[in-house]
Amino acid sequence: MNSITEKAYAKINLGLDVIRKRPDGYHDVSMIMQTVNLHDTISIKKTKFQSVTVRSNLYYLPTDRRNLVYKAVEVFREHYPIRSGLNITLNKRIPVAAGLAGGSADAAATLKGLNRLFQTGLSLEELMQLGIKLGADVPFCLMMGCAHSEGIGEILHPLPPIPDCKILLVKPDVSVSTKHVYENLRLNEEISHPDISSMIKALKENNLYALIPLMENILETVTIKEHPIIEEIKGLMKSKGALTALMSGSGPTVYGIFDNKLKAKQAYDLFKSSDWGYQVILTEPYSPAK
Ligand code: ATP
Repeated sequence: MNSITEKAYAKINLGLDVIRKRPDGYHDVSMIMQTVNLHDTISIKKTKFQSVTVRSNLYYLPTDRRNLVYKAVEVFREHYPIRSGLNITLNKRIPVAAGLAGGSADAAATLKGLNRLFQTGLSLEELMQLGIKLGADVPFCLMMGCAHSEGIGEILHPLPPIPDCKILLVKPDVSVSTKHVYENLRLNEEISHPDISSMIKALKENNLYALIPLMENILETVTIKEHPIIEEIKGLMKSKGALTALMSGSGPTVYGIFDNKLKAKQAYDLFKSSDWGYQVILTEPYSPAK
């Protein structure tokens, strides 16, 4: 085998709670993550040279060590020395710095691709142990589907996926730094925490309508204050038939959940033809084949 292509899938957070700030600066979280059917594509080709080159379709994305694809190759190489050089082509479709874990998904897909290309035979668990070195969301991006994640995001309990629905993603034209959002989160008594246990119960019962009113993201308290357009997009989505609308991760992407395909398409058309959403994508939940 000389080359391989992997898909790197985005995620949304159906629920996101932050439990506490740890002495090491990280935060303990309790989140429900769901993979969606939106992916980047990563092609990895062996070359006879020693070097690793990464190319991307987005001119503004670094392709050196700052790119998580490049970092994933380095982490993989530290553990499993591979002799040949690599030409990697990254075709990005997941909006960047959007709360959709695009970079983490690329890192996960790169680890998977290298494992297949070099037939290193690592199990999913072993890949996940490498993945955590690259970022808190990388283990989930390797596992995919739906899961409850704890710790800094690395403790994963698989869950049944969100029941069949349409998911509308709208990313406004604002930039959000995940680090900044966590640093500005105030975990005082007044803050409302999502009821993650009840969300898990609703997912296990395959009950979309019990799940919807429970969906909350504690990070909205920071990001929406700084970018009120997120609240406006949520409001517009709900007025156009979304059962609920929530920010994903640290934002700024807002997603709406629709149980009606036609309403979802109409809302998609509305956002596409307006200035509300810089990037607008209509998708659905994704579960990997077992
Ligand atoms: P998360 O939800 O995990 O916080 P995100 O979706 O908000 O992630 P990313 O798209 O992963 O954010 O990008 C965050 C930063 O990482 C960007 O500023 C970008 O320059 C950098 N980055 C490094 N590698 C990649 C990559 N392969 N794809 C996207 N961004 C990358």
